[in-house]
Amino acid sequence: MVPYGEAVPVSPAPAAAGDADPAADSAAVPTGISTARKRKNRAIAAETRIGLVRRARRMNRTLAAAFPDAHCELDFTTPLELAVATILSAQCTDVRVNLTTPTLFAKYRSANDYAQANRVELEEFIRPTGFYRNKTSSLIGLGQALVEKYDGDLPHTLDELVKLPGIGRKTANVILGNAFDVPGITVDTHFGRLVRRWKWTDEEDPVKVEHAVGALFERKDWTMLSHRVIFEGRRVCHARKPACGACVLADDCPSFGLGPTDPAVAAKLVKGPERDHLLNMVGL
Ligand code: SF4
Repeated sequence: MVPYGEAVPVSPAPAAAGDADPAADSAAVPTGISTARKRKNRAIAAETRIGLVRRARRMNRTLAAAFPDAHCELDFTTPLELAVATILSAQCTDVRVNLTTPTLFAKYRSANDYAQANRVELEEFIRPTGFYRNKTSSLIGLGQALVEKYDGDLPHTLDELVKLPGIGRKTANVILGNAFDVPGITVDTHFGRLVRRWKWTDEEDPVKVEHAVGALFERKDWTMLSHRVIFEGRRVCHARKPACGACVLADDCPSFGLGPTDPAVAAKLVKGPERDHLLNMVGL
């Protein structure tokens, strides 16, 4: 067992297609694709551990080429702003959060500003992001805790961050990776869905997913990997209709065929500013 976060040695000879158990994971094999492709999907899903590591890292390299500009899509200039934006992003799109935060950040500049905020006024600022009463409580509580325990600054460790109001493990990893350059894996809804589709793990619990995926990669790769997987989830591998026929990961994905495989149909499902580049990569 490779310890979480340690480099995993990669050696030759991934599992050959002929080694696969044809019955393995049959429930996850999509219908509507060729027999050869079904066989390939099953072979991928039945690979050895070393085969999984090699495939996962190959997919990460493909994603790096697909999304060279992958980044946190929340706007921020300080660790506190990132913490606030991440709290506001619960059950809300990053686009809406980014529309809301400029006026908020102009008025609330420090942890003390949140600690002493007028609740009704703060609620009005963040109302467009939804669940604004709970989020207001989190922001005021966060400001008070930072002032009382950390002189108004964000702490730099996962253990300390997750003890702060409004900050769970996902938010803490976003802060660590993007504000403090401490590698972290962000398991949001996209990340969990995609890594299960890719058979990187079968775990459902986000903490277990974080550990299982972390063990496949070197620690230094965690933050960028998270951004790339989330970009793929937002632009190509959608929850309901993944764009399989126009996906750069099709060769390595055991769930190929979950969505339309016809290239022209799939191309219409690809979104985002990288669309032309992504379609170009698959020859469309
Ligand atoms: S879009 Fe289809 S082929 Fe691409 S990663 Fe998602 S399930 Fe796999």
